[in-house]
Parts: sequence; structure tokens; C-alpha cells
Amino acid sequence: MERIALNGLELRALSVGGLETCHWLPRWRVAFDIGRCPLEVVDCRTVLFTHAHMDHLGGIAYHTATRALRRQPPPVYVVPHHCTDDLTRLFEVWRALDRSDMPHRLVPLGPGEEHVLPNQLVARPFASPHSAPCQGYALWSRKEKLKPEFHGLEGRELARLRKEGIVLGDVVETPELAFTGDTKIEVLEQQEVVRHARVLLLECTFVDERVSVDEARAKGHVHLYEIAERAELFRNEAILLTHFSARYRAHEIRAALDARLPPDLRARVTPLVGAHERGEGAAAPLPDDIEPR
Ligand SMILES: [Zn+2]
Repeated sequence: MERIALNGLELRALSVGGLETCHWLPRWRVAFDIGRCPLEVVDCRTVLFTHAHMDHLGGIAYHTATRALRRQPPPVYVVPHHCTDDLTRLFEVWRALDRSDMPHRLVPLGPGEEHVLPNQLVARPFASPHSAPCQGYALWSRKEKLKPEFHGLEGRELARLRKEGIVLGDVVETPELAFTGDTKIEVLEQQEVVRHARVLLLECTFVDERVSVDEARAKGHVHLYEIAERAELFRNEAILLTHFSARYRAHEIRAALDARLPPDLRARVTPLVGAHERGEGAAAPLPDDIEPR
């Protein structure tokens, strides 16, 4: 588990392609995907799931059961529509096996729909092209901005107008964060919010010649070279590259970013490499034979 600050936003994350992926935002108590359920993420009541590969969804039932044991309110799982029936059956099986209620709420959601989080952020899915059906999520903040004609009025006057039912402001939406889930690079061209979100969490599974761009694309993932080629498209203030293959060590990932990314983009990019550190500080070496999918 790593703690990272992106543009002032505190993020915790653990992600190794094929092994386990989980990102969460302690301030907003919201998580993206739970491959194996780190204990800390149990505190997140809302989890947005991108797709049903085991390394992204395998920890869901553990999350539910552990929240129940800790007497925390039932979690809310936002899931792609196509997963709903199978997840309902999965929980029926777990209820029988675990002999518990496994309380939770499934919220099927797809592109074009939205789910308002408890902190009033709005989650909107977008399609991410991957080897399995997958969707990313953008989190939007909404703020009311006073219309120009009311600028300069005193608070008391504004309150009076509001009481009369006059709409004083326009709602301004800002894409605070986008998480792509597993994807091919086309998500960048296809989804404006991926290019413009203030903070972007983008998968980058492969970084050098050991796996070619063509092989990365065939597996439904992003290669670092594809990011470098599109450097001018990224308008984000901060970018976390994540989901690196277990075959790379942290210093190899950093060296590849330094060599390939233009300075303006490199300065905004943080790689999630804590699990890829070997030797000192590493919890356990990563298996070399895990192939991301
Ligand atoms: Zn996947």
C-alpha cells in the first residue's frame, strides 16, 4: 500500500497488473476496484468497480463481510450493468458458505448515467476498451457560481432574492478525477474527461521492449510508448501511472518514464511502484510469472 498526494488529493493505492489492483481516496471514502482487499479499504463505503477480472474484483465479498463484522453500514458497490446478475448470484453463494447476511447494495451503472456520492461528488462511467467489458469513472464536483448580474449585491439582498425563488447562480461542474481501469490507449482520444480531469489515474502496464506495443494492445493494455506519442493530449494537472506488470522493478519503470516522456509530461506523472521495489522496504518479492490480462 502506498500513500500518494496528487495535486493535494490524498490517494492510497496498491496495483500490480494481473495480481491485485485497488485505489482509494480516504477523504472521500471512495475506492476504485478491490482485487484482494487491503484492510484499510474496508473503511470505504462506496466502491466503483471497473470490470470483473479477478485482480480487480476478487476482494468484493471479503470487503462486504469485514464491514459487517466491524458493524459498519452496508457498502455500496457501483458496477457495470453486465455484472449485476452474476454478482447477485455470487453473493447468494457466499451467504450460504459464510452463513451471514453479507449486507450490501449493488448499483448498476453505465455510460450516460450517474451516481451521486455521499460527499456530493458525481460519479459518471465511461467506456474503456479492454480485453473484457470495462468502464472507467470520472468524479465531478458541482459548485454554484453567482451569475454576473448579481455580483456586488450584499448577502442580505441575495438572501431576499433567493427567498423569492430567483435562481442566482449557474452550476459549474469540474472533473476532479478520472480512473480508467484496464484499457487500451484509445480511451484518451475517445473520452474528453480522461484528457481534462484534474487528476488522472491511468493504467500503464508495459514500459519497454520486453513487451511490444502490439503485444500490449493485443492484451488490452497501455504501453508507455503510446503515452509518450500522445504527450500533448494530456491536460491533467497530475497523473498517476499504475497497474505496471510484475516483471518490472521500480527503478526500471522510473528509468523508462525518464527516457520516454517529454519533460512537461514527466513533471506531472507519478508512477505507482511501491510494490515493485525489491529488497529493502519490499513486503515480498513479486512473482515473475504473473501475466497481466
Ligand atoms: Zn483486466
